[in-house]
Amino acid sequence: NRQWILNRRPKGEPDADTLKMIESDIPQPGPGQMLLRAEYLSLDPYMRGRMSDAPSYAEPVQIGQVMAGGTVSRVIRSGVDGFAEGDFVLNYGGWQDYSLSDGTGVQNLGAAPDNPSWALGILGMPGITAWHGLTAIGQPQPGETIAVAAATGPVGATVGQIGKIMGCRVIGIAGGAEKCSYAVDTLGFDACIDHKDAAMPERLAQAAPDGIDVYFENVGGKVLDAVIPLLNTHARIPLCGLVANYNATALPDGPDRMGWLMSQILIKRLTVKGFIIFDSYAEKYQEFSQQMSDWISEGKIQYREDIVDGLENAPQAFAGLLKGKNFGKLVIRLDDE
Ligand code: NDP
Repeated sequence: NRQWILNRRPKGEPDADTLKMIESDIPQPGPGQMLLRAEYLSLDPYMRGRMSDAPSYAEPVQIGQVMAGGTVSRVIRSGVDGFAEGDFVLNYGGWQDYSLSDGTGVQNLGAAPDNPSWALGILGMPGITAWHGLTAIGQPQPGETIAVAAATGPVGATVGQIGKIMGCRVIGIAGGAEKCSYAVDTLGFDACIDHKDAAMPERLAQAAPDGIDVYFENVGGKVLDAVIPLLNTHARIPLCGLVANYNATALPDGPDRMGWLMSQILIKRLTVKGFIIFDSYAEKYQEFSQQMSDWISEGKIQYREDIVDGLENAPQAFAGLLKGKNFGKLVIRLDDE
């Protein structure tokens, strides 16, 4: 059983010392337990927070513990009612081949789901994050303008496509020409601006002639700087993530713009609301799942995965995720040992 354990808390970017692969015996299920083997491991930006012991909404992974993560696994042996050998399940197995479970918090996907790995993306945590954050907090009205960065990732791509379904103008912000073309040509965004372009603030302003009514915040940093002056009175900001800050070791160099930011919130009567999807997941999942499945079968939502083969490649792929090396939902496909 290959396991990636947290070896050292990273300062800045995770590096070769952050995680260490160890081998252990395949665990044996006791009464009321099942043995699960991971087929797909989801890599998500929140994992950077788990590597750190700074105070957050969730407990950090401890040094020596298996790195946490969502997985789609197969049931190898089952002593749990409702789970049969061969079933696919969505579980939090972590960065390892095998895990034990008593079934708590495990979703059975059945013996032959169409796209098992989608439970880690469009039909799972990132998908419901986009849907809930946009509809419940962003509350876009037809004709309004939505801006979203990390526009080709699982959250941003879904936010923008739902925005189009809701009759809005959607502007994406992404890293590089290829991602921007994909956002417009395949996802149907009205425009997409490359944040690596020095003229990004001007291009964003040109793409939003009527200002921005909903800014779905995934990244922070330079993109947030460019968006704030374009926000309309009563704009809403679902504050979902700040990936540009996750590897930061200090606040950016001055001047201190806190006062300016607060004055913008006041003058424009902005609503800024942070949310963590786990607070709403259980209550909202059924409604989300039905709605998203309908949209997918109607051809209204496109979904792109970036699949990397081999558990051994997970740390490098994860480091790349925080720098935009992924193109689509980053998933590790585990090989059979
Ligand atoms: P993505 O697959 O979109 O990966 C992150 C992307 O962020 C990168 O691919 C990169 O895309 C972009 N990025 C990285 N650094 C910068 C930067 N400095 N400036 C601009 N863009 C940058 O991730 P997800 O879709 O899984 O997650 C998106 C956001 O949603 C994250 O902030 C994540 O933490 C958050 N999230 C929050 C949840 C919640 O409950 N609040 C739940 C799930 C996700 P590019 O190359 O286009 O720049």
